[in-house]
Amino acid sequence: MSKISMRTPLVEMDGDEMTRILWKQIKEELLEPYIDLKTEYYDLGLPHREETGDQVTIDAAQATKKYGVAVKCATITPNAQRVEEYKLSQMWKSPNGTIRAILDGTVFRAPIMVRGINPVVKNWEKPITIARHAFGDVYKCAEYRVPGPGKAELVFTAADGTEHRQTIQNFTGPGVLQGQFNLDKSIASFARSCFQYALDTCQDLWFATKDTISKLYDHTFKDIFAEIFEKEYREKFEKAGITYFYTLIDDAVARVIRSKGGFIWACKNYDGDVMSDMVSTAFGSLAMMTSVLVSPEGNYEYEAAHGTVTQHYYRHLRGEEVSTNPMATLFAWTGALGKRGELDGIPELTAFAQKLERAAIETIESGVMTGDLVGLWEGEAPAQKVTGLEFLRAIRERL
Ligand code: NAP
Ligand code: MG
Repeated sequence: MSKISMRTPLVEMDGDEMTRILWKQIKEELLEPYIDLKTEYYDLGLPHREETGDQVTIDAAQATKKYGVAVKCATITPNAQRVEEYKLSQMWKSPNGTIRAILDGTVFRAPIMVRGINPVVKNWEKPITIARHAFGDVYKCAEYRVPGPGKAELVFTAADGTEHRQTIQNFTGPGVLQGQFNLDKSIASFARSCFQYALDTCQDLWFATKDTISKLYDHTFKDIFAEIFEKEYREKFEKAGITYFYTLIDDAVARVIRSKGGFIWACKNYDGDVMSDMVSTAFGSLAMMTSVLVSPEGNYEYEAAHGTVTQHYYRHLRGEEVSTNPMATLFAWTGALGKRGELDGIPELTAFAQKLERAAIETIESGVMTGDLVGLWEGEAPAQKVTGLEFLRAIRERL
């Protein structure tokens, strides 16, 4: 059998610990035997980030801008303990944060659904994708603990010196204060990423805020989405047979629970933080959650939603057998390869990515799975617990 050839390289970002091991196994077992794999390799493993003064992370992000599609392994975000463990010269920033700052854009998270692992919400038949605006609001606010009586004001000094001033509260005793902001530019790029991704995946888009209470702040989000939709996307949505739907956040929560799934739910930063944990937990397992960063210029970076699975790695280093689920990491690869095939007009590549996803899902549906899924399993076939590598080999056989 001849291998599928590629035209443009994928930006490959290697990572750390258990996922670094799975990364290599996925390539060897499921990709290299079938594809003449073309990648531009960046080692984002913590030792190499240290060696390069984290320049490698910046280079990888720039390469993503150049080529358009990247696939990333989970990486360690160092804390004090990691500085000690890896003898780091400094506490390097989160690679995901660095990449997001360079590419901009929105993170879309969606669960991989298989028959036999049922969402806690009975009527969810299709995945729900959460699109989180990862900028501003409470994550970049100024706070003040009010010690006692006094007047709090909101003051804006324009570049020309003119001042806007309004009273927030006349305090008669102690309390708290918070100042939040967002930018039209960031909200607009959030909106465009969401509309674009809805078209890419042919799903309806929902967006919700609390605009009835926050008549300026939240309403600005609503207005910018509406304006961009009317000007740039209404026709495209009609052609694709999908809809854009705006409602109040409380109404959205109720509708999401009663829905069958199969749509994208765009959330402001805080709502997305909270709701993505709720949705992913209700769908089953963190190891079955995919994640893609879509930039407003149309660059894509695919990854798993989970981390480097440190506890499994330490057990692996002690020589114990571990059963780590490679599904989300595998789907990062298939997502990236499928997108590359689409952009370069290589239908065999896109078809291969789809077949590989199908084979992986069917492997679980046949009862072969990693340990994390065994407790969730409600399928007919008895659950057979295997290691990550055995699981990949079972997929290969089915493929
Ligand atoms: P984690 O790696 O996601 O693992 C947390 C726990 O979830 C694991 O101990 C395991 O539970 C379960 N789990 C996650 N993925 C699994 C998989 N594929 N198969 C089976 N079980 C899985 O989170 P963490 O332990 O908080 O973080 C570890 C490191 O990852 C940290 O250094 C953090 O900075 C980094 N991190 C990176 C990213 C990223 O690169 N995107 C995201 C998050 C965290 P059991 O132990 O109960 O089996
Ligand atoms: Mg959270």
